[in-house]
Amino acid sequence: MIYMIAIIIILILIIVFQNIKIHSISSNIEKVIKGNFNERIRIHDNNKIVKNLIINLNRLLDEFQKIVSQNKQYEEDRKKMISNISHDFRTPLTSMLGYVEMLKNDASLSHNERMEYLEVINIKGEVLRGLIEEFFSLAKFDSEDIALNPKRLNVTEIIRQCVLSFLKDFETKGIELALKLPNEDIFIEVDENAIYRILQNLIANSLKYGEGGKVIGVSLSEETHDIVIEIWDKGKGIPEEDIPYIFKRLYAVDKSRNSNLKGSGLGLTIVKKLVEKHSGTISVSSKPYEKTVFKVRLPKTHKS
Ligand code: ADP
Repeated sequence: MIYMIAIIIILILIIVFQNIKIHSISSNIEKVIKGNFNERIRIHDNNKIVKNLIINLNRLLDEFQKIVSQNKQYEEDRKKMISNISHDFRTPLTSMLGYVEMLKNDASLSHNERMEYLEVINIKGEVLRGLIEEFFSLAKFDSEDIALNPKRLNVTEIIRQCVLSFLKDFETKGIELALKLPNEDIFIEVDENAIYRILQNLIANSLKYGEGGKVIGVSLSEETHDIVIEIWDKGKGIPEEDIPYIFKRLYAVDKSRNSNLKGSGLGLTIVKKLVEKHSGTISVSSKPYEKTVFKVRLPKTHKS
């Protein structure tokens, strides 16, 4: 009889303790729901099932915290992007309208001055058009409304053609070209327009930002499953603290965003998206005036 009573008391105690633990787990979760995202369940239990439940609940909370902070970051990026877009669109537009106003109101302008103003309007208009096109491209990527058309192509030849299209710029800027292509042609499965755009963007950036180094390199090499394209320069490079952000939309290292070099800040975002659409990777390393290298790795076979 005494044994029975003891067992019943032990069972009641176990149930009470478990209830206290469940209550404590529930209040931990409630705290997280209320916004205390660092809260975790710190209860120990020897029961394997309860232990697993606690481990899994904590993993769920980790994931939840990750999603919350990603959303926060996304929201901040979005706000910054909208403010940058308005700035980038407004600046050339205001300038264009200013010149139009002068053309309309200033009868004393000479023919040459009028032509000069029209030329400025034209240039600003082109800048705006470029911006709108890049935004359009990015919007298409975001809505996944872009279909690649991968084919087996001679990537060695594509690189050669792309570099050729820049020869005049190399010449004008007095920049030496260090082109290192393998003797044999390398064929991989890629979308021709996409690979061309990736190369064009990276070479144009080296010309724009790295011209101080007076040499730009383009190289191609082959590994078992991938090909590796490197575009490098010896220019002023990218400060270490900016490197994690340069593939983000509208990020320009020059925060004043008013230099003539300034582009839309979308180029590298688009390049990264295109590389990733080919299941590839892009990375960058930079030692100012020694070497700034953009390294693109693409699988030889397109994985969709
Ligand atoms: P942008 O349209 O401003 O050129 P990108 O997305 O192409 O935008 O590049 C983002 C930023 O990365 C640039 O504003 C520039 O500051 C930096 N950057 C890109 N390539 C280079 C390079 N080769 N050398 C130094 N800085 C670079």
